[in-house]
Amino acid sequence: MPDEISHLIWAYLMLKHPKISSHPSFQKKRDILATYFFAILPDLGNLLMLILLLGFMRYNNIQSSIGPGAMENPTVQDAFTSVRVIYYIFHSYVTMAVLLLIAYVLLRRLYLPLLLGMGLHLTLDVFTHRDATALKPLYPLSDATINGIVHWGSWTFYIAEIALMLVYTLWLYRATRKR
Ligand SMILES: [Zn+2]
Repeated sequence: MPDEISHLIWAYLMLKHPKISSHPSFQKKRDILATYFFAILPDLGNLLMLILLLGFMRYNNIQSSIGPGAMENPTVQDAFTSVRVIYYIFHSYVTMAVLLLIAYVLLRRLYLPLLLGMGLHLTLDVFTHRDATALKPLYPLSDATINGIVHWGSWTFYIAEIALMLVYTLWLYRATRKR
């Protein structure tokens, strides 16, 4: 399943956890919506990268279509290397910590929708993004890349993920029915 759908389903499942669904930080509709928003926020950086890259190609009159073909163009390759920083910034625990700090200053409390949504996204991505998409989870404090265990687009991961979702849903069903 596409990465984004997977992030949203996990956020949904976590929000259904009895400890989370009964927590004061997750009672309002806007807190639930915020959790979903933060669960996809890191990948909005990818969208920003794409827009910048397309803008760059238009500005420089590069005719090649977006995709692997465009990447063969050295000018596009260079531009991609520059905008890649956005990917690392949006997928960094350091960024999350900074956002949590800003939220703390504004709200005077630990903003849990941000911690749950973005924390879930980053942790899932650290394990499932390999090679070219491998994360630098502590960027810009550290340049270290972490190679995931399994690629999110692989069949191995699909099967493991769906199995995990099913097991968790069954557990959730039993746990919530008992109460
Ligand atoms: Zn991501």
